[in-house]
Amino acid sequence: MSLFELKDVSRTFGKAPNEVRAVDGVSLDIEPGEFVCLIGPSGSGKSTLLQLLGGMDRPTSGVVSFEGQDLGSMSDSALAGVRLKTFGFVFQQFNLIPTLTAAQNIEAALAPTGIKPDDRRRVAQERLEEVGLGERAPHLPSQLSGGEQQRVAVARSLANDPRVIFADEPTGNLDRRTGQEIIELLGWLSGEHGATLVVATHDQELAKASSRVVAIEDGHTEAVR
Ligand code: ADP
Repeated sequence: MSLFELKDVSRTFGKAPNEVRAVDGVSLDIEPGEFVCLIGPSGSGKSTLLQLLGGMDRPTSGVVSFEGQDLGSMSDSALAGVRLKTFGFVFQQFNLIPTLTAAQNIEAALAPTGIKPDDRRRVAQERLEEVGLGERAPHLPSQLSGGEQQRVAVARSLANDPRVIFADEPTGNLDRRTGQEIIELLGWLSGEHGATLVVATHDQELAKASSRVVAIEDGHTEAVR
């Protein structure tokens, strides 16, 4: 059994004649430990596919299964539980809470898991050190560069020791060199933590770091390597 098994998955928005087939008949398996890059131009369906994989959305038709469980037919609370315990997310806009420090942003992600406050603080500090920002723990996002904010977001995505990390255009708001560093960090840390990594990007260069490239165009996928 693969980690993810997608069978003829479609996600449409709106009604005919204005229906948009954002994801259109995708069948795809992802194995544990892979670093998969979903690559395609803007509007090709990358975010929608990532949201289906990450249990943030449900397919209109077809099956998205994770470890043999059909995510599309789970209750909202069961799906929220899978997201919280097994998935980590990194976004283009970093999505840090502006009024919380770097450390508190990570602690906040751990709060719903029921881990004790002392342990939350310890894990937050450990994760910040892993991304090279141990000394930035008390800083607010506004006191950090874009690359540093994204590193905090990477640290936060790893807080719960997830089995899968999803990153949606994680370099879209960064210059090329900083973006490359973020991709390398994601690749390295997901390996260290034994997590599978799925990154959506429009940038061919960034795809080079991955173990597998899946091209997406008009909602259709195609294996590249
Ligand atoms: P990408 O991430 O590759 O830029 P998206 O998955 O965001 O692509 O979008 C794929 C297509 O689906 C686009 O045409 C987009 O406008 C459309 N789309 C995505 N989300 C919605 C939505 N919530 N409502 C309507 N159309 C949507």
